[in-house]
Amino acid sequence: MRVEVDPDLCIGCEVCKDICPEVFDIVDDIAVAIDPGKCAELSSCKEAVEACPTNAIRIYSDE
Ligand code: SF4
Repeated sequence: MRVEVDPDLCIGCEVCKDICPEVFDIVDDIAVAIDPGKCAELSSCKEAVEACPTNAIRIYSDE
């Protein structure tokens, strides 16, 4: 499982970073997944995905 941020949808609100800084950071006002595979281990990552106001974060299965 990994996550990816769609830069066209991200508005740089930092909600994902606030909820799950282990996976998300803000670079040039856009969120990036700095450790995209770690989402499998962290419930906070799923919370960040659900909290994103523009649904810019997608979860992908590794399978
Ligand atoms: S919560 Fe969504 S819109 Fe806000 S910075 Fe993160 S990815 Fe971007």
